[in-house]
Amino acid sequence: MASIFSRIVAGEIPSYRIAETESCYAFLDINPLAKGHTLVIPKQEIDNIFDLDEALYQELFSFAKQVSHAIEKTIPCERIGMSVIGLEVPHAHIHLIPINTLRDMDFSKQRVALTAEQFQEIAASIAQNIV
Ligand code: AMP
Repeated sequence: MASIFSRIVAGEIPSYRIAETESCYAFLDINPLAKGHTLVIPKQEIDNIFDLDEALYQELFSFAKQVSHAIEKTIPCERIGMSVIGLEVPHAHIHLIPINTLRDMDFSKQRVALTAEQFQEIAASIAQNIV
C-alpha cells in the first residue's frame, strides 16, 4: 500500500504545499513542533533516507537547504533545525523546524495546534520566499 506521503504526492490526500521539484516535495507537517515545521520528501517512495540513490539524496538535501532559507525568512527564529527520524511514516523525509532552543527539537513535546487558515497562510508565506 502507498505511504501517506505518496498519497500526498499523488494528490489523493491534501497537504499544505510549499514547493516542489521534479523529484522532491515540501509541505507543512500537520502536527508541527513549531509554526513553519516543514517536511521535505523525495516523491519516490523509499523508506530509509540513507537508501536513496546518490543523485536523489543530493537533490533532496539541496532542496531542503533552499526551503530552509525560505522558512528562516518567514518565521522569526534563531535558526532552522534539521532532523531525520522516520519512525512514524516509512517514506524518507527531512524535518525542518524553526528553533530558538535545544528543547524546540524535542519530538516528545506538545505539538502546536493551528487552524487550516493558519496552515494555509504559513505555507503561502514560506512559498513566497523560495528563491
Ligand atoms: P517521523 O516518521 O517520526 O519522522 O514523523 C512523521 C511526521 O509526519 C510527523 O511529524 C507527523 O506529524 C507528520 N505527518 C504525518 N501525516 C502527515 C500528513 N498527512 N501531512 C503532513 N504531515 C504528516
